[in-house]
Amino acid sequence: MTRIGKKEFSNSFTEAFKGDDSGDRTPRQTPGVLYSKAEPTPVSAPKLLAWSNGLAQELEIDPPTEDDVAILAGNRVTPGMFPYASCYAGHQFGNWAGQLGDGRAINLGEWSSKNGIFELQLKGAGPTAYSRHADGRAVLRSSVREYLMSEAMHHLGIPTTRALALVTTGDKVLRDMFYNGNPAYEPGAIVTRVAPSFLRFGNFELLAAQRDKEQLEQLINWTINRYFPHLTEENQILKWFAEVVEKTAFLMSEWQRVGFVHGVMNTDNMSILGLTIDYGPYSFLDHYDHNFTPNTTDLPGRRYSFGNQPSIGYWNLGRLANALSLLFEETEGLEEVLSTYEKIFWDHYYTMMGKKLGLDKVRKEEKELISEFEKVLSEIQPDMTIFYRLLAHVPAEGTPEEILQHFQPSFYNDLEPQEKELLTQLITNYSKRRKNNNISPEASRDLMNRNNPGIILRNYLLHQAIEELEKGENKLFLRLQEAMKTPYAATGFEDLVQKRPRWAETKAGCSMLSCSS
Ligand code: AMP
Ligand code: MG
Repeated sequence: MTRIGKKEFSNSFTEAFKGDDSGDRTPRQTPGVLYSKAEPTPVSAPKLLAWSNGLAQELEIDPPTEDDVAILAGNRVTPGMFPYASCYAGHQFGNWAGQLGDGRAINLGEWSSKNGIFELQLKGAGPTAYSRHADGRAVLRSSVREYLMSEAMHHLGIPTTRALALVTTGDKVLRDMFYNGNPAYEPGAIVTRVAPSFLRFGNFELLAAQRDKEQLEQLINWTINRYFPHLTEENQILKWFAEVVEKTAFLMSEWQRVGFVHGVMNTDNMSILGLTIDYGPYSFLDHYDHNFTPNTTDLPGRRYSFGNQPSIGYWNLGRLANALSLLFEETEGLEEVLSTYEKIFWDHYYTMMGKKLGLDKVRKEEKELISEFEKVLSEIQPDMTIFYRLLAHVPAEGTPEEILQHFQPSFYNDLEPQEKELLTQLITNYSKRRKNNNISPEASRDLMNRNNPGIILRNYLLHQAIEELEKGENKLFLRLQEAMKTPYAATGFEDLVQKRPRWAETKAGCSMLSCSS
């Protein structure tokens, strides 16, 4: 175990690539480099609000002293650190956006532990060369959301960046939360994010857009050597791309498993390691609806809605393939790998759904049943999380009344007669199929309870915790932090396992959110 302030950080990324080491943080284009040096901007009164003990243990980091908190707030940089903002580009809402980059994330350096090497990054630590018109800061509201949710995703077993610490800065940040011309001051905060790598599809797109073959090749080789060292040399780039396809397909299927909607699946928010990255206006599904998007900016086209996520994953991989094509004379190989996405996704998806339904095999009949589930749930729109937890112990030979009674806690509205019919028919089919599967009722239930979370971080809960924190009260925040560690057990946290209350349906921050953060 070592304290953050005592550690020798390494800086292999900045040592390997060309960067702008001037330290100039004036917003600008930085062609030809992969990063720009950026010292964090000090804040007035740093205070540690949260510390992820679990992650700190994994990284062998000692609890922070006051000096360490100064580092987590950007007030102190130790001699071994090389603070920088990474330069990337990307497609946003389907359009090429050109150079983007870490506008408010500053990498401090790489931390080695027995569990590997991790990058530590401060989000909200002040402007960088890539801040464009913005201030490089983050508000408490969005920082709490990122901190709690990335840890929650980790405990759900979903690949994600992590969060080590959350500090409040003592400074106010001006935000127009509703984008309606009424900006207001909000408390500022900084999250310390941790990941093996924060590289995004956009880093590769940047170099391709600059037609910089040499650095693109160098970045790919570096990524492969460090994160995909098992890949042999022959057709190495294609093999690597195939792994990115695989990881992305898996991540999409995992998001569908728990009803997670990212909200801003731009290519600059797609991790090259298949991690969930950049928590913004995300949401879990409350009522089951493929068209649901939590992002108010996404409303006109619902590009990033729940049901679209897997195909957007594919579209984004297409942008990555396009970037990689700069290094190929023929694009056929890349196209072929890309075309495997669909099958890989569906294989993951059916396996995952089989577990959600407590079935040991997924053959043609089970696949039909899975589609039937989707159709009926889309029709009835019950609370996804509550529905699947109830499904685990639905009476095998229940009467229609018993079945409806059983699922009552998951309904947001009274069902129409035709909907009742659909649901009871579905459950009757399901019970038959479950009986025909070669799995004991206990094993089936157990499998389901390991794959269907009992507790999810609903937006209205986050909203309440944030409101409390803004008043200086951390009771709900701490309870959520605890509850998220055992999402499949859900015991002791029954009050958090409620469907979204009526009042939260239309309240900003409780169902939908803006990108303002
Ligand atoms: P996002 O939609 O949060 O992934 O952000 C898209 C881009 O805008 C990224 O390059 C961010 O770094 C940048 N950005 C977002 N908010 C800010 C901010 N407050 N200050 C500077 N840059 C920002
Ligand atoms: Mg982003």
